[in-house]
Amino acid sequence: MRLSRYFLPVLKENPAEAQIVSHRLMLRAGMIKQSSAGIYSWLPLGFKVLRKIENIVHEEQHRAGHMPMLMPTIQSADLWRESGRYDDYGEEMLRIKDRNDRDMLFTPTAEEMITDIFRSHVGSYKDLPLTMYQIQWKFRDERRPRFGVMRGREFYMKDGYNFDLTKEDALHAYNRHLVSYLRTYERMGLQAIPMRADSGPIGGDDTHEFLVLAETGESEVFYDSAVTDLTFGDRDIDYDNVEQCAAVMQEFTTKYARTDETHDEALFNQVPEDRRMTARGIEVGQIFYFGTKYSEVMKATVQGPDGKPVPVHMGSHGIGVSRLLGAIIEASHDDKGIIWPEGVTPYHCGIVNLKQGDEEADAACDALYKSLTALGLEPLYDDRKERAGGKFATMDLIGLPWRITVGPRGLKNGVVELTSRRTGESEEITPELAVQKISEIYAAL
Ligand code: ATP
Ligand code: MG
Repeated sequence: MRLSRYFLPVLKENPAEAQIVSHRLMLRAGMIKQSSAGIYSWLPLGFKVLRKIENIVHEEQHRAGHMPMLMPTIQSADLWRESGRYDDYGEEMLRIKDRNDRDMLFTPTAEEMITDIFRSHVGSYKDLPLTMYQIQWKFRDERRPRFGVMRGREFYMKDGYNFDLTKEDALHAYNRHLVSYLRTYERMGLQAIPMRADSGPIGGDDTHEFLVLAETGESEVFYDSAVTDLTFGDRDIDYDNVEQCAAVMQEFTTKYARTDETHDEALFNQVPEDRRMTARGIEVGQIFYFGTKYSEVMKATVQGPDGKPVPVHMGSHGIGVSRLLGAIIEASHDDKGIIWPEGVTPYHCGIVNLKQGDEEADAACDALYKSLTALGLEPLYDDRKERAGGKFATMDLIGLPWRITVGPRGLKNGVVELTSRRTGESEEITPELAVQKISEIYAAL
């Protein structure tokens, strides 16, 4: 993409309404525009990152054997009356009437709809286990929408649902999700710690939230600092293997890590004092096992091996796809702007032409652009007639992890400058080597 043709409405001044750094930077980098409280348009740069995050979620769900599908955003109130949540959900549910005066709502989550689909089509235990998910817009009429996409009213969420014959099978599904979530967040360059949590209006007994530590987080968390040493890495896990998934679950959830709702002072005090941490965290996902809570009220039964009908065991799992943009920026920025982890960066590298209009410089930039593109990489080429300082400021603000700077002086010696956004370190190398280095970095992801 050439910057001269791109829609990137960067702001010079700090927007007054933004209280936290991720919100400020998303507005300044022209990623989003608020349309009303907690509701945003996603401008090209923001949308590109949203899609990258969404793709990682899809790939990791696929790897775990879960099936993508899509359910409507506007749903009839009838299903929700059946589960009892039409009243229970309270003010957060946006209720709508259609032209025939029928009660509708904008879906805040989709347990009822998926359970209805399940009971209409699945009759036998032989069709289990089954896990389906969607990535779809949700609406919750939050009391205090704030912090940009972190607490929106309209937000993009991955929600998945598993159906199993027995509690043991459903617990395997729970563990499988925990494992796949660990991998998902790490691919985004994030450490998200699973913490024992409270189930809220979804209901159920077993639940973990995934939290990214950040001062601006809305949750108070308590943990053993040893949990921050755990990394999933590139382990090759067989998601159908019950013992393997259970072992990872054990490893990542045995040490003390809880949100304030489930915090237990006595238990916490058993952690060695120098490892006892109190901090703030951003909830980027949650997994639940809730047994037969929905299947019993909504009569989602299957015929068991003995021919008798049994209610299925269920769980649900969410990832805050749009909130993740904010969480990643909170975890990765400096005074100049965003620093995208390679896994989610909107463009793989920036090309800055220091002397637009100079024949040699223009040709070198075009050649770089072509070579990178031929390798399947997406560069963002700043080909505007602007001062170098302004170009650097824009690149730093939008946070591409690598920048190639091209100018007549370097070209005389056959070199360009390759700069890391994270460390600020630069090296003068040939254009060919710069391309090769960038391509190797992304190939290793
Ligand atoms: P919270 O406690 O932050 O209100 P929740 O526990 O009600 O969230 P879930 O039902 O667990 O949310 O939804 C799954 C994920 O969706 C959450 O982990 C979070 O990342 C994201 N999410 C929830 N509410 C919002 C929101 N208002 N704006 C953006 N993302 C959200
Ligand atoms: Mg939650």
